Amino acid sequence: MCDDAEIDRLANDLRTADRAIALTGAGLSAASGIPTFRGDDGIWGDLFDESAFHVSRFRRDPAGFWDDRLDLYDRMEPDGGAEPNAAHRALAELTHAGVLDAVITQNTDGLHHAAGTDEVIELHGTNARVVCDRCGTRVDAQPVRDRARDGELPPTCGCGGPYKPDVVLFGELLPQESLRRSKELAAASDVVLAAGSSLTVDPAASLPTYRQGGTLAVVNFEPTRYADNAEYVFRADVTELLPELAARVADSEDSA
Ligand code: NAD
Repeated sequence: MCDDAEIDRLANDLRTADRAIALTGAGLSAASGIPTFRGDDGIWGDLFDESAFHVSRFRRDPAGFWDDRLDLYDRMEPDGGAEPNAAHRALAELTHAGVLDAVITQNTDGLHHAAGTDEVIELHGTNARVVCDRCGTRVDAQPVRDRARDGELPPTCGCGGPYKPDVVLFGELLPQESLRRSKELAAASDVVLAAGSSLTVDPAASLPTYRQGGTLAVVNFEPTRYADNAEYVFRADVTELLPELAARVADSEDSA
């Protein structure tokens, strides 16, 4: 698959790092049956239009927004729900081993939590909750989504305000405290491992630029931004490369 010696070298860098983080994107969850937005089989373009999920559309036409959002859930979520895959589990192991300080994700699918990762920062929010656009109350998404499917468009909070998925829509700011903490972690990290992301959606995707001398490792099928300044570039499947990397970190710790 990849240069064996390079994987060993990265495993060693991770094992000896004082601080390290992973930054993940939709490619992490592709093997769990959730399509990516870009890349082969990406869902933007013919099927969905970004402007349909802009915050201005939600404010103007919350009923139409929810109608399209239900279609997006159908397209994005496999029947029976998605499960974490080997890549999520490998990153969780690396947090348990104290090798990764956090997994910072652009994903909204909750699969890093489901895999038992110790510290997850969900920079783009989560599909597991909705938030009232008037009073700010956050509740579990599932019952609200069920009401929307039964025809309540838009589903509303007790205060009368429309619920919004608790994710960062196009045109919205990222949660500022999560972004601040992510930048701080990136700046302090000896290794930033960017996996399964096209690294195109700022500001999350530009986190690698905050590192101060730390090593950047990229694992992605396609070319990404920042690859020119990356010490490691693996054109590999995250579900193969990350478990292999976690195994080698564990081996090197056993033999240390
Ligand atoms: P992206 O869709 O722009 O890019 C995903 C990248 O992953 C592509 O470059 C693709 O080549 C690569 N990839 C796919 N499968 C892979 C695999 N098995 N191994 C290695 N690489 C693989 O995703 P992004 O960079 O995360 O940015 C897009 C935005 O999409 C984010 O804001 C995110 O919130 C949102 N999104 C989230 C989900 C999710 O929660 N699972 C799914 C789709 C999109």
